This record gives sequence, structure tokens and C-alpha cells, in this order.
Amino acid sequence: MSIKQIGPTPIQAFHTLSCHCGTVVMELHLPDGVVSPRRCDCSFCRRRSAIMGTTSEPAIRIIQGRDKLTLYQFNTCVARHYFCSVCGIYTHHQRRSNPQEFGFNVACLEGVNPRDLGELQWMDGVNHPADRLQTPTQ
Ligand SMILES: [Zn+2]
Repeated sequence: MSIKQIGPTPIQAFHTLSCHCGTVVMELHLPDGVVSPRRCDCSFCRRRSAIMGTTSEPAIRIIQGRDKLTLYQFNTCVARHYFCSVCGIYTHHQRRSNPQEFGFNVACLEGVNPRDLGELQWMDGVNHPADRLQTPTQ
């Protein structure tokens, strides 16, 4: 699922993402729009409750606030979850299932109200893909 417009807001090829207080500002290269936005029910995401999009590291440019980003890790400590140390908003994370991939907070995209996305797919974070590597059929 590739979404090029969310509500009244077209997703730009280079779209700005910011935390709530504006300390952290990033630019994401999203030539295909927001691909497969989803929620996740792992022990962390169920509390954070963010809608996440997917991109890759070269597609992320931190414009300001890099020194104010705080890293949170847990469990296997492969995934790297970043949030603004001033306002506490999650901006992006490096994935555990594929460290070449990054997730980002769709609701932090400029002009986007995630309510306009309607019902979304849930990722099965309880049975994480990295815990099922022995069963390639999944
Ligand atoms: Zn902030």
C-alpha cells in the first residue's frame, strides 16, 4: 500500500518530519509516498502507540536537533528507537527485522493527521519476525 496523499496533504518526494516542540527536524525522501503505514503490538509499540511508515537510512536527513535525540533500546538491543529529549515524541527507529530499514512516526509528517488514514494493518509484534527466522514460510 503506497499512499501519496493523506487527507488534504500530498506526501512530497522530500517531506519534512518534526517532533512536537520543533527541536528535531528531519527530511525524509519518500518518492513512493508513505508505504504500508501500520501499528505494532509489541511490548514497546503498544505503549508508544504510533503509526509507523517505512524508509531506509539514506532516505533520512536530520536537519536539526541530532544532539537532542535520545536512543532507547530493549530486549535484543538491535532496534534503535529515537525520540526527542525535549518533548518526548518518537521520531524514527532503526528496525530489528531489517537494520537497513527505518521506521518513522507518520503523525510527525508535516500536515498529516493520522486520523485520515482510517483503519490500519497491525504488525504482529508479539511474534516478532526476528524470532521466527527458522520458519521462512512466514
Ligand atoms: Zn521535541
